[in-house]
Amino acid sequence: MSAFDLVIKGGDVVFPYVGVQRTDIGVKNEKIAAIQSDIDTAGAAQVIDATGKHVFPGAIDSHFHIGIYRPLGEDATSESTSAASGGVTTILSYFRTGQDYLNKVGPYKEILPELVGISEKSFLTDFGYHLACMTEEHIDEIEWLVKEGGVSTLKYYMFYKLITLAGATPEANSYLMIDNPVDFGYLYRFMKEVGRVNQLYKDYGPVTLSIHCENPEVIRATQNEVKADPSGIPMKDYSNARPDWQEELAINEAAIMAKYTNCPVNLLHLSSQKAVEAGIDVSQRYPEIDFLLEGTLHHLGLSNDMDLPQKAKVNPPIRSQENVDFLWQALIDDTLKTVVSDHACATLEKKKGDLWTSMPGFGGTSLMFNVLLNDGYHKRGMPLHRIAEVSSANPARYHNLYPKKGAVMIGSDADFAIVNINEEKEITLENLYTAQEFSPELGMKFKGWNETTVLRGQVIFDKGRVTGEPGDGQFIKRPVKLHYK
Ligand SMILES: [Zn+2]
Repeated sequence: MSAFDLVIKGGDVVFPYVGVQRTDIGVKNEKIAAIQSDIDTAGAAQVIDATGKHVFPGAIDSHFHIGIYRPLGEDATSESTSAASGGVTTILSYFRTGQDYLNKVGPYKEILPELVGISEKSFLTDFGYHLACMTEEHIDEIEWLVKEGGVSTLKYYMFYKLITLAGATPEANSYLMIDNPVDFGYLYRFMKEVGRVNQLYKDYGPVTLSIHCENPEVIRATQNEVKADPSGIPMKDYSNARPDWQEELAINEAAIMAKYTNCPVNLLHLSSQKAVEAGIDVSQRYPEIDFLLEGTLHHLGLSNDMDLPQKAKVNPPIRSQENVDFLWQALIDDTLKTVVSDHACATLEKKKGDLWTSMPGFGGTSLMFNVLLNDGYHKRGMPLHRIAEVSSANPARYHNLYPKKGAVMIGSDADFAIVNINEEKEITLENLYTAQEFSPELGMKFKGWNETTVLRGQVIFDKGRVTGEPGDGQFIKRPVKLHYK
């Protein structure tokens, strides 16, 4: 056997769906080339001693917002660095036309190559995009996006429905830079087309629509109630202003439309017990439709029973500890299939104003293993192989990266997070490697830290040092079964 480019020696390798096995891994030409005990390191270009460490498949953070609040290329570099420091090797980020992101409109045939061009110079990790169709023209591009563009996941934002209705307000027009409503009639056309293209390409993996399920009409009323009679605890007020049952309502609305359009749906960032139960309910009611139930790091790691700053405002809101405990149960019992950060690097400028006017969202991608190990494995006995499933194998399968990504198998990309599951440290801004000037988790202690990150055989982060560079990351065209032979 010819020498390896990299050998990872003596680690406890975490195989998704299987378990933990102590073994060596040999890497050649960016791929896993051998999985066996006692690999001969003679002639290997690089050897990593992983004794006492756990070797996870590199995490795939499949919900991200690169470029939402900062220039896209700059944000891709700083925030993929943050991701890499935490053991994330692939980022799937949301993108739409209009203000924020690239501040432009037009067909994705023109905008996607520009987006990928900027990204290829900027990312340290591999990456892909989920695209929001904002116009009828975008809907007509879906088949091209899957076949040529390398994008097999789309997005619909329910909360834009209201602001674009009835001819739209001037603010909505200037923000989204569209003059068409994106109401449920639009969603119906959108889902029908996703359903049609999914049928065409289903042998290569599902073509799916991600939906942020919150009902803006209900929120308009409930927010006014809370504004008139606030408790003064910002995160509780924000949660009451967007109650859990409007998530339940929105999930049912989306699911009924999915049934009649045959459209697979990713139910994003389920924040509450009611939302998860609605997800279970529609999955059982319409077994012929594929629903993916997604969990979020901040809904698992934070509760509004903690003393959180207003900067922890996010949609859907941080809920009570009771909801958090329910989400963990749903994650451990395989109801929630993926865990994501919904990372949006927010400047303090964007967080200015009161509870109602400051911008939602914040970053947290580097906490993937911290939260899953500390709150999942150590506190609740979540098995390590389950952690590898929700952070890597499942997102790879649902978002058409598998088995190039998300698998510890011969021929898969050599992406790894080498983790010390027993190291305990406090969160500081320095160990998040982000451009964000705050974090709701600052000062919290976590047991379980990523130590070394390997992207296609290359070490991009090692013991506190960023060793990767902007441009190391590649655009991964999806479905990989269609685009890579
Ligand atoms: Zn998001």
